[in-house]
Order: sequence, then C-alpha cells, then structure tokens
Amino acid sequence: MRPKELTPLPNELASEAASLFRGLVNNELFGVYVIQDGLFVYVNPRLAEIFSYSQEALCGKKGPTDLTDPVDRDMAALEINRRVQGEVVGSHYTFKGLRKDGSSLDVEVFGTRTEFRGRPAIAGLLLDASARCEAERAMSKQLNLIAQLLETIPNPVLYKDAQGRYLGCNKAFEAFMGYAREDMIGKTVYDISPREVAEVHDHMDQLIFKTPGIQSYEGVATHRDGSRRDVMFYKAPFNNADGSVAGLVTVIVDITERKRAEELIWHQANYDSLTKLPNRRLFYDRLAQSLRMAHRGSLQLALLFIDLDRFKEVNDSLGHNVGDELLAEAARRIGACVRESDTVARLGGDEFTVILPDLADTDDAERVVLSILDALSAPFALGNDIAYVSASIGVTLYPRDADNAEALLKNADQAMYAAKAEGRNGFSYFTPSLQARAVDRLRIGNDLRQALPSGQLEVYYQPILDLHSGQIVKAEALLRWHHPERGMVSPAVFIPLAEELGLINEIGDWVFHQAAHMAALWHRANAALPATQRFPVQVAVNKSPRQFSSACDEGVWIDYLKGIGVPPSCVAVEITEGLLLDERPEIKARLMNFRDAGMQISLDDFGTGYSAMAYLKRFEIDVLKIDQSFVRDLMTDPGDLAISEAIIAMAHKLGIAVVAEGIESEEQRKLLADAGCDFGQGYLFSRPVPAEQFWRQLNLGSYPESV
Ligand code: C2E
Ligand code: MG
Ligand code: MG
Repeated sequence: MRPKELTPLPNELASEAASLFRGLVNNELFGVYVIQDGLFVYVNPRLAEIFSYSQEALCGKKGPTDLTDPVDRDMAALEINRRVQGEVVGSHYTFKGLRKDGSSLDVEVFGTRTEFRGRPAIAGLLLDASARCEAERAMSKQLNLIAQLLETIPNPVLYKDAQGRYLGCNKAFEAFMGYAREDMIGKTVYDISPREVAEVHDHMDQLIFKTPGIQSYEGVATHRDGSRRDVMFYKAPFNNADGSVAGLVTVIVDITERKRAEELIWHQANYDSLTKLPNRRLFYDRLAQSLRMAHRGSLQLALLFIDLDRFKEVNDSLGHNVGDELLAEAARRIGACVRESDTVARLGGDEFTVILPDLADTDDAERVVLSILDALSAPFALGNDIAYVSASIGVTLYPRDADNAEALLKNADQAMYAAKAEGRNGFSYFTPSLQARAVDRLRIGNDLRQALPSGQLEVYYQPILDLHSGQIVKAEALLRWHHPERGMVSPAVFIPLAEELGLINEIGDWVFHQAAHMAALWHRANAALPATQRFPVQVAVNKSPRQFSSACDEGVWIDYLKGIGVPPSCVAVEITEGLLLDERPEIKARLMNFRDAGMQISLDDFGTGYSAMAYLKRFEIDVLKIDQSFVRDLMTDPGDLAISEAIIAMAHKLGIAVVAEGIESEEQRKLLADAGCDFGQGYLFSRPVPAEQFWRQLNLGSYPESV
C-alpha cells in the first residue's frame, strides 16, 4: 500500500518549514523519531534523553531490539512491521523500553508509516509513560485486591464505571442474579433489565455520582430466571486520584424475609385472626380515609354497626370453638353482601362494622342492610350443630348525622342498640332523639351511682299465691328506684344499667339483706302464731347472671341468714336461663351451694330464652316461672295455652313446681289452675307493694317498728 500523499504546508509557512520543524523536534515532552529499514535515521534530543543516549549514538540503532526490553521485543517488532505494511494507521501502543544503562521504562509510541528521503519509513512520537503506567499498575493491583476482598463479602456486590458499564462483581452477585461475571462486564443495566427498571437505576446512579457517601434505596432485584427479591441497594461513588468520579459500587441486601415478617406483623396488628377482617385499628384508618375522600368529593357515606343477636347463647351452649366458627361464617356472609370497595371490619366479640363509602343513594345502604340481615338470619351449620342467630344493625350517614369518625361510630352504636330494643333482627337509623336517649341513659347512670347511698332505692314485694288454696305462700322482692326528679324508674331500665356500670353486686347484696330482714320478720311473727294458724312465707330474690361472675357471696348470704335466725328455706334465688347456658363448672357449683344450704332455685322468665329442658335437670331447679308473655295471650292464643300446659306437665314430671307470672284476670287464673299450675303471681292478686303494705296482706298484725 502506498503511503498517503503528504499534505503540503500552506504557502505562507513553506519558507518557515525548517524553523517549524526545529521548534517541534526541540520540544521537551515528546521524543520524535524516524525509522527506516529498521534503524533510527532520526531522533530528537528529547528521545535521546528518554533513553539516556546521545542523539548520535542512537542513530543507526535498531529501535525494536536495542531500545526495547526483551519482554516486549517481539511485540514491538510486530507493531513496527504492521505499520510498515500499512496495516495500522494512527494508533499507539505501549511497551517496556530499555535505557542505555539497562534500566527499563514505560514508553508510549504513536508511530505511523510515512516517506523519508523518497522511501518508506515510520515516523512518530514517543512519550515516557513510566509515571502513568506505574500508577495504572498500582491501580490494577488495588483493583485486584479489592476484587478479592469483595469475595469475602456475603452480599452481592457490583461495581461499574462512570458511564454505567459493569466493571466487575463478586460471586455472591453472580449467584444472586444468575449472571456470570463475564456476561456482565462491559454491559450496562439497560442490557440486563427491562427499560423502565433500568431507567430507575440509571436515574438513581446519576444522583449518587453527584453525592459523596453511601446512599440507599429499596427496590426489587430480578434474577435471570425471572424470580424477584425485595432488596436494599446501597450505592456509593468511587473516585479517580484527581477526585473525578471513576464509578460506583453497589451492595445488595436481600430484605425479602424482613419485609415478609414486617408484612406479617402489620397484618397481625391490623387484621382479626379469626375472621381475617380488618380489626378496630384498621377500621378507624379506613373510616378516616373514607371520610377524607367523601369530604373532598362531596360524597355520602354510610356506617353500619352490626351486633349479632343471641351470639352469647350459642357461644355458651355450644362452646367457644363453635362460636368462633359462627363468627368466621358471619364475617363471610357480611362480606358477600358488600362491594369490593366497602370495608367490613370486626370490632371485637360479635360486633362488626361496614363502611359504605361513595354512596349514591341512601337506598343503597338500606339494600345492603337488608341483605346482611337476610344473610345472618339463615341457619348456621356448624359441624354437627345448627345455630340460629340474627343481627341488629345501626345505620348512620355522613355528612347528615356527623362529620367525624368517633361521632359516626357512636351514632351507629346507638342506632344498633335501638334496633336491639325494638326486638332484634332489624335495623335502625341514627336519629337525634336516639342521641338524646343515649345522653339520658348516661345521666340516669350517673344518678344511679347515688341512688343507694341517698336512700332512693326500696324493695317492693309482690305476693305469690297457691293457685288452689288462694293462700300467699311466697313473695318476690322487686326493686324500686324513687328518682328525685324522674319519679319511679323501672328496674327494667336501671338493672341492665347497674350491670353495665358494675353496680349490680352492691345493689343486689342490699336487696338480699332487705329481703332477708323481711323474711326474718315473717318468720318471727309466724312462729308466734298458734301452730294451726302458722303459714311459712318464702321471699324470692332476683339475682342477675353478672352477680355470678364476681366474687362468691353464697357463703356470706347463707351465714347472714343463719345469723339473723332465718332458715335458708325461707329465701329463694331467681335466676334466668342465660345463666344456665354458662358452661363453666363453677356456675353449677355456686348454684349447688345455695341448694345444699336449703335455699330454693327458681328459673325466671321461662320460655323466653333457650328453654332447654336438659338444663332444668342438670341444675336441679326447684321452681320454674312461666313468663308473662305466655300468660298474657292465654285466652286468645291456643298455642300459648298448649305451651303452658306442656311446660307444667313436663316440670311436674321432673319434680319441679311451677309459678305463672303476670296473671291479670280471673280467666287466666282459672285456665292455669286447671292446667295444674301450682302458684300464681300477678296484678289480679296484687301489684308489687311496699313492705308494710305487703305485711298487711298477710294479716300478721301490726307492722313491727324496727326490724
Ligand atoms: P321479673 O323477675 O320477671 O319480675 C316480674 C316482673 O313482672 C316485675 O316487674 C313485676 O312488677 C311484673 N309483674 C308482676 N305481675 C304482673 C302482671 O300481672 N302484669 C304485668 N304486666 N307485669 C307484672 P318489675 O318489678 O318492673 O321488674 C322487672 C324486672 O327487673 C324483673 O323481672 C327482674 O328481672 C328485674 N329485677 C327487679 N328487681 C330486681 C333485683 O332486685 N335484682 C335483679 N337482679 N333484678 C331485678
Ligand atoms: Mg323475678
Ligand atoms: Mg319473670
């Protein structure tokens, strides 16, 4: 190949070519040389200086052999040859040179084929690159060391240059990502990741190049096989000796397990483990969030408060496992009635809430409510048992009823109570009058705390007659509250309140002591009568299930009776069916304590609850009281008469005496007496009356001044 035509100098410089060349060859940085036929035909002073020769001494020397360290001689000869052949144009190479004294140096040459004295030659520049090569060697040694160190790090480590090209990685990285080092080197993140992922990393890298120190961010690492891990990327730039950014090192920490654990903890903290529904905490979050959205979009929202009716009875009678199953199933049924975007939460126990955000029409809320009621009233098949519950639902609306979460929840709760009070298996909207009623309840509750110490409570007595002889044989102690402003408050109102406020034990004990004193009076007066005229009267005291949940008082009660000289058979305890559903063995044991001491146990309001005959036998009930709801319709509802007759017959078979409650008419009395009922209680005979009045009904003479 012919060498390229030399470009002539511009005219104005042609005359100065000699001085130009002189200036060039006398520079103090580059060596300048011309080799022809393998020998130096020209070297400038700097080149001679680099190799510690004189200019003259070098001319005629063989470049590749005489000035080249033996290790690079072949390479240098080859490079020169290639240039002679015209293969290489404008490229440079580095080799180990040899000084006159035998010491070696690093030399960088930029040689190219040219023409000298009309014949082919190689001319070029030559640079002492010792300092730079030394630095490069040191650097590569260091990189080598670093690469080894990186292998000792268990985390995946990767480093890349300032252009984002991978320089290397450790084995942990290879294993973690599924790429061999060789596959990675020279590539960028764009070559191994989807574009959108690569762009994120690239963007972060650009920031990190500008920020000294370690930066971290969370992300996802995708293995070559497509599997993904949650990771933290820790990245830091590293610099060249001159302070410019040389690249970036990335350390990857796999946080998949930690995230999983965190998610689990979050889930446990926010979800109910039984029903898998959001719990109270998450419910509040969601409600607050829904309210914010409703506020922003001027939307309506409904909050439902759902309480299962009679759940406690299922739980107590069929056991907690079955109760749990029922709750889980109830949760599923409620969930099936709402949209994906609605929230169903379990507040605890048998209480659920539903948030219906973005409500177009209040009718929509009502449709959901009705479908929930429907779903929950269907029988629950739980293992071998079938249970029936229903629900009472309170509904409140944002922004109509309230504008904040607490108020809405309170409203929905109050509305739910109203639905319960209206006979369960129904729903009620929140209304301001409900609010007023709730406030009223609160006030009555506060007043109730004062009722006993202020002497506002009084025990009334209602006679219970032998239906055949017409004799008064028992009396039921019924509590009355003379409220200073409200007048007489019904125990149906304040007993549940006393239970709720934890006042029932104190009040119940007081009623018992009053009744015991009454019994003592009757007992003493009776004992004073001639033997033929004596008639024992037993007083029955109502005892709420709550009183059985607290400290044992049977021993105290029995000792008290003995202390005041009253045989325990003169006092009976009235309990409700709910208590018998309580499976705890101590309940039976406590009832037995009364029985063993000679006190009778009456089962009140029979027929309104579970009415399970098995309990009558198991708990050795002495007396059964047919609820007044059966007696009320005795004349008009033949079914009620049949039920009453059946109850009486069955009780008698079990050796249990029967009292009919709420007898208001002679017809009722007669029907019950004919059915074989033993005792009767009701307005027909007497309303509950103060102690003194009752005393007069007994014809026991004047009422003793002191008890
Ligand atoms: P209960 O034990 O079933 O008492 C019978 C209720 O029926 C009494 O209501 C009585 O006044 C009412 N009653 C009696 N005869 C008739 C009648 O012919 N017609 C009608 N319509 N009602 C009649 P009261 O006194 O309002 O008591 C309501 C409930 O409050 C009681 O039902 C009992 O469960 C509870 N209670 C009353 N005093 C106490 C007490 O000292 N302790 C506890 N734990 N509960 C009590
Ligand atoms: Mg009673
Ligand atoms: Mg009753």
